[in-house]
Amino acid sequence: MITGRSGGARLARAGAGITAVALLAACTAGQATAPGTASAPTAGARPQPSPEELGPPGATPRPGEVGRIPSSGSLPPVISSIPTRRKVVFLTIDDGWEQDPGFVRQVRDQRIPITAFVMRDAVEAIGAPDPAGGQGRFVGRGKWGYVRLLRDAGVPIENHTLTHPNLRTLGYDAQKAELCGSSRLIGKEVGVRPTLFRPPFGTYNTDTQRAAKACGLQALLLWTATVQPGGKIAYQVPDKRLRPGDILLLHFRPNLARDFRILVSKIKRRGFELGNLDAYLKAALRRAK
Ligand SMILES: [Zn+2]
Repeated sequence: MITGRSGGARLARAGAGITAVALLAACTAGQATAPGTASAPTAGARPQPSPEELGPPGATPRPGEVGRIPSSGSLPPVISSIPTRRKVVFLTIDDGWEQDPGFVRQVRDQRIPITAFVMRDAVEAIGAPDPAGGQGRFVGRGKWGYVRLLRDAGVPIENHTLTHPNLRTLGYDAQKAELCGSSRLIGKEVGVRPTLFRPPFGTYNTDTQRAAKACGLQALLLWTATVQPGGKIAYQVPDKRLRPGDILLLHFRPNLARDFRILVSKIKRRGFELGNLDAYLKAALRRAK
């Protein structure tokens, strides 16, 4: 179940909303704000409602809408789409190399539901960015401060390992070190422990599921389509169209804000809504009666 976010976590999020308000006020006043910092609100700035006051971003499931994802014994299930017939899709963004503050504003101001799967070496700009995402203006600019801005914008921050290995090449202990290390670090830096895990390259084995369970992660989340530069959707399925419950994968790369605008309007033009992944997973992972 994805009910692991404790009351303490919710409190942390409520507090985070206040930071978001301060940042928004700073932005509307036209002040330059470095990534990872939030200026005090300007005198006379209108208070903005926190994300909590506006309710969860994205479509939430109707009663009886979502099918149940079968359990995989005692191990966390591997999920690549949400079982629903409603025209709803889910946006997920991986790694964390390019840290454009404009993208956070876009997500917050337009209340776009996304889930971020962050990887330590990308967030901290250790080593070279992935070739497709290099040469960005904002690589490593805000580091964990950038991830906290995303959290303040209402984005769940989930686990994508420390160093992005192909987990199938590692034994159980090494996999567990990657998964638990990442969850611990995110808990320390962001204030909320992840409940979801996305395996790098989508590769995993039973040891990955065992390690995920040992680290308190409740599901492995794959995807049904990736989004390329320019907002073009590359489908994993032969019929090349969006389907209800699809999970789309993007990366923190240059021009993400532009690609995102194109993608979101394309999804809406095709009659799809953007869904709240946490709410749908909670419904899909409910226990059998
Ligand atoms: Zn990745």
